[in-house]
Amino acid sequence: MLIYDLNLPALETLMREWNEPAYRAKQIWQGLYQKLYSSPEQFSNLPAPLRAKIAEHCTFVPFHVKTYLDSSDQSTRKTLFQLPDGNLIESVLMRYGDPADDPQMATSDTNRRGAKNRRTLCISTQAGCAMGCVFCATGQLGFKRNLTSGEIVAQVMYYAQMLKEQAETVSNVVFMGMGEPFHNYENVMAAIDILNDGEGYKFGARRLTISTVGLVPQIRRFADEQRQVNLAISLHAADDDERLAIMPVNKRYKIDDVIDACKYYIEKTHRRVTFEWALINGVNDTPEVAQKLARRLKGLLCHVNAIPLNPTQGYDGEATDRQRAQAFKETLEQAGIPCTIRMRRGIDINAGCGQLAGAESQ
Ligand code: SF4
Repeated sequence: MLIYDLNLPALETLMREWNEPAYRAKQIWQGLYQKLYSSPEQFSNLPAPLRAKIAEHCTFVPFHVKTYLDSSDQSTRKTLFQLPDGNLIESVLMRYGDPADDPQMATSDTNRRGAKNRRTLCISTQAGCAMGCVFCATGQLGFKRNLTSGEIVAQVMYYAQMLKEQAETVSNVVFMGMGEPFHNYENVMAAIDILNDGEGYKFGARRLTISTVGLVPQIRRFADEQRQVNLAISLHAADDDERLAIMPVNKRYKIDDVIDACKYYIEKTHRRVTFEWALINGVNDTPEVAQKLARRLKGLLCHVNAIPLNPTQGYDGEATDRQRAQAFKETLEQAGIPCTIRMRRGIDINAGCGQLAGAESQ
């Protein structure tokens, strides 16, 4: 079993089954999430027979590093992991000096203080993805399977352990890698609960961001649960036909339905929603589109996070240039909708989600 798949109560149950005292569970939990141990031998506070039993029954690393790439400016590292069943997933570490450049900063105004030197992780929630967004390399790969909560947590722990060696810590985690997080709702929330646990990793909910294509029932469920996790919606179009052309999910959930669900979320949580917008030259970056979007979002507690498209092999759309991006932002802001233009990261290492896995599987 993967040790990160166990939450604290499950670990306590396991200790009971192994006839170990209950406090052993907490010792293991703290070793995993406070001391960031990555193998049973490191648990020097546990008796040797228990360490041996853990080694016999539990896996600590659910994948191996197939490859990793650092961007030429060393700010971005992308790791391609291979799971035991052969599936590939990707996670990206982004080092930020400028908060405006950070996807999580744009989604959470509560995190703007002390924004320098952030270490943001973009992690995967599924191997592949069923949503089929045409501009996305993961969408072009298709769906393979859901990740378990432990496989999600393990990506964070992998980087947390690596950063610890450099006396650094993870600042933020965004669920924006491969997969649609709300399509794997239970496991993603279980992973969040593990990361969030006050006796373990203590990773504040406001430092987490879920990015969804807009699965309406799950947005409403998420609102009802009133978590403090940030919510981002990948919108990318202001008109149903235009959105359907690039995002098949729009067949099921129309823009009005998504925005209604966002209104419900805001009412329930009083939290701001971020709308993600991949700027595609000549497709969704014109002043007319910006005005249409502004009309859609009028009065909503929200923010638009626009980023020039990361080009992929399977889609011939091009990235918007800086000037057009700036004009798009100004049109929105004149209409009272806050907007940030983010720089693309790691273009030289195929850092857009699914690009590395796509290249490997070709
Ligand atoms: S953009 Fe996200 S939801 Fe769409 S296909 Fe890619 S991974 Fe899936």
